[in-house]
Amino acid sequence: MKAAYFRGNGAIELCDVAQPVPGPGELLIRVAANGVCGSDRKIFEGGFARIPGHEVAGTIVEATDGCVTPIGARVAVYIPRHCGACVYCQAGKGNLCPHKPGLLGWSTDGGYAEYMVIPDRNALPLEDGISFEEGVLLLDTVGTSSHGLRLAHCETAQSALVIGAGPVGMGAVAYLKAVGVAEVLVSELSPYRLGIAEGYGAIPIAADKEDVAGRIREAHPYGVDLVVEAVGSLPTIWQSFDLVKPGGAISLLGEYWGKVELDRAKSEWMINDITLIRSFYFTIPEFHENQRLILDGTLEVDRLASHSYPLTELRAAYDAFLSGDTIKVMVTP
Ligand SMILES: [Zn+2]
Ligand SMILES: [Zn+2]
Repeated sequence: MKAAYFRGNGAIELCDVAQPVPGPGELLIRVAANGVCGSDRKIFEGGFARIPGHEVAGTIVEATDGCVTPIGARVAVYIPRHCGACVYCQAGKGNLCPHKPGLLGWSTDGGYAEYMVIPDRNALPLEDGISFEEGVLLLDTVGTSSHGLRLAHCETAQSALVIGAGPVGMGAVAYLKAVGVAEVLVSELSPYRLGIAEGYGAIPIAADKEDVAGRIREAHPYGVDLVVEAVGSLPTIWQSFDLVKPGGAISLLGEYWGKVELDRAKSEWMINDITLIRSFYFTIPEFHENQRLILDGTLEVDRLASHSYPLTELRAAYDAFLSGDTIKVMVTP
């Protein structure tokens, strides 16, 4: 089968490799679509020993003994490997399983290939009427963002600021609009992304040209009810504290592995009853709930799948992604 490897410095090599063989309790999935993710950037630059790709949807073509998912099932791939037995897994919260031995597509070969092996319990069945692309969008783009927003009780907010409108931030915009948050402001550099946000009925703020804090304070002297940080940088984390109102909530969705030091100048951290949510991925019940929101017309995701490339043009897909003028880039084998 064809599979892509990241060789470092942006070099991508398409190789012919043996089709993987599922072991007991595992499925073989024929990949239909794999989303390009911002979290791939590190391995795109640094290189990676395995086949990358972790936002996958496709069709089951082989099922071993003990698998519940039938051959022919259309599924999306839940990436946290999880034990299936602990209290978290029993509640569908594989993202919180304390026994998770890594993530599919990171600690195993991923979806930039024609086929991929996954544990049976990581197959999330797609309902009729949900496309493979929507299945991919229901993972990192909408799944990750809606999980953090649910934990932050976003449905109680009248006003929200989304900082950064990449795939996760735009997923947040779509979800906030779906649950009826009246005023959604979006701070972002790319005019392309600001245009998509505007299409959702959000208020665009050009982060490089406008005074973001000034714009927020004009309409909300005390700040907004909810700030969604979807960049993953210290300046935007602190900006969240500056712009959330007392009693409000901050949902940290951006990937940030650095140190967060308490800044004495930012007394908001200490004295304002701020609910701070740092979330990871999403739960399996939420995936099914989000499918229903799409099917009943509440959650509109189609404009989030902005570009599509064949696997043979994976490098072009990354160039498009790195330009910043995309939302979710899909790759199809
Ligand atoms: Zn991702
Ligand atoms: Zn578990």
